[in-house]
Order: sequence, then C-alpha cells, then structure tokens
Amino acid sequence: MRIGFGFDVHRLVEGRPLFLGGVEIPWHLGLLGHSDADVLIHALCDAMLGAAALGDIGRHFPDSDPQYKGISSLVLLKKTSDMVQQKGFCLLSADLTLVAQAPKIAGYALKMQRALAEACGVEPDIINIKATTTEGLGLTGTGEAMAAYAVALLVCRA
Ligand code: MG
Repeated sequence: MRIGFGFDVHRLVEGRPLFLGGVEIPWHLGLLGHSDADVLIHALCDAMLGAAALGDIGRHFPDSDPQYKGISSLVLLKKTSDMVQQKGFCLLSADLTLVAQAPKIAGYALKMQRALAEACGVEPDIINIKATTTEGLGLTGTGEAMAAYAVALLVCRA
C-alpha cells in the first residue's frame, strides 16, 4: 500500500463559476486558475500522484500549457487516475477536506463523491468529502481563498 498527501489553495474572485469536487456550485465568487481551479480535485490529484511517487500536478499539467486553459479538473483527475493505474496501483480510499468560510457544501457532497469516483473508476463510497471553516481567520476565513487537503491510499494491483 502507498499513501499520499495533497494540498492546494486558489484565490476567490468575481466573474468565475465555482467548481468544487467536479460540481458547479451556485455562488457569487469563483476560484481563479488556469484550469477551472477546482481546489478539491487538485488536492486529490496531488495525493494520488504522491502515493504513486509520480511528482505533482504542476509537473504533469503545467499552467503554462495552453491545452489546460479552462479545462475541467475532472479531466485532469481522469488522466491522473490513468497514470496511477499504469504504474500498477488502484485507489483504495481518499479523504478530502475543503477549507472555506462559505458556501456550505454538505448538500453537494454526494454529487461530488459520484463525480470523483466516476473519473477514477471506483465506487463512490471509498471517497469522503468534508469541509471546515477557519472561524473567520486567515486567507480562507476572510473569503480571499479556498484551500483543500487530501489523502489517498493506493494499493498495488499485483
Ligand atoms: Mg490548483
């Protein structure tokens, strides 16, 4: 078994849709980034790449590459999952934490689980999504940014 950890932050701005866990969430602000800036998926990709010792998301999908401009992070997750599987691993478990002052995402968690699971070719019940605020403190507390943490457990298929 291999374990990996991922962390990401994106700035919140006006005039962008908000994508979290592969789901568009109605909100007056969105995350800024080269892709759709789905901070939860980026943390998960880094956790999976970390567990497989495949580097990080910036190495495989550089923000200087025009082919990734505006891309759905679900596509990046699918590509990440493919790379991990090519190295002989499959995803056994993933646990994701969104750090955001608002909005509440509990009502979207199941939809996110399903979207992430479909991209990875696994069952939704091996993926957990939770959220916390930082009690109004720091970058995420003031609403300037959202952050996400993820851990992923991979198992060797051999
Ligand atoms: Mg990112």
